[in-house]
Amino acid sequence: MTDVLKSTSSAQIREELLSLVKTVKGQLANADHLYVNIDWKNPVPMRKKNDISVAKSEKSIDDLCQEVAGCKQCSLSRTRKNVVFGDGDVQAGIVFVGEAPGADEDEQGLPFVGRAGQLLTNIIKAMGLERKDVYICNILKCRPPGNRNPLPDEIRLCEPYLKQQLQMISPRIICALGSFAAKTLLKTETPITLLRGRFHRYEGIKLMPTYHPAYLLRNPSAKKQVWEDVQLIMKELNIAKGD
Ligand code: URA
Repeated sequence: MTDVLKSTSSAQIREELLSLVKTVKGQLANADHLYVNIDWKNPVPMRKKNDISVAKSEKSIDDLCQEVAGCKQCSLSRTRKNVVFGDGDVQAGIVFVGEAPGADEDEQGLPFVGRAGQLLTNIIKAMGLERKDVYICNILKCRPPGNRNPLPDEIRLCEPYLKQQLQMISPRIICALGSFAAKTLLKTETPITLLRGRFHRYEGIKLMPTYHPAYLLRNPSAKKQVWEDVQLIMKELNIAKGD
């Protein structure tokens, strides 16, 4: 390669490069059937009418939210007041995934707005961020009555919504809050005590499991470990407090 370069004059290289650029430009000009108005988060493929082959990739997060709002797949749809789809910046670098809405969340249709939510807000602030800078959602989109644990069937039926939601947001980091979120996303039975403290992978995205804020309310001494986990996340996101 170096020999070739040595024996080629800079004018020749320039000419070659110009011709390459021309070729690529020409090909792109004829390739408007691939992408128009490229929004890198949600590229919109141009398609012929009635072409259902690409229809799936055109679903936006608002479409998904509407779909979930009408979900009647499990019995939680009969007891919920509101579906709690998720809240925050759909372009966020980090998504927090909790377990399921509680009474306050069910009432307001928003995730983490009760006591555990206040603690999560404080954790986010301690990272130097605001709630509007992150995205927050849950494994289940509807409240289990009496705040009981999610049932395996409820998780199985609801998980595809979360999977699509995470694909659409495509964050750099997922923070799984508590055992249900961590075990569901990582498809493991390993306890949260062993999972936390290091990154795992979910569909190619770095995932940090940590304790659920509700657990911290009962066990404040575990805040130290959550702070350790959060610091690893901050390092990965290149954020120092105050950035
Ligand atoms: N606990 C959760 O796991 N999610 C919420 O939205 C609220 C409390």
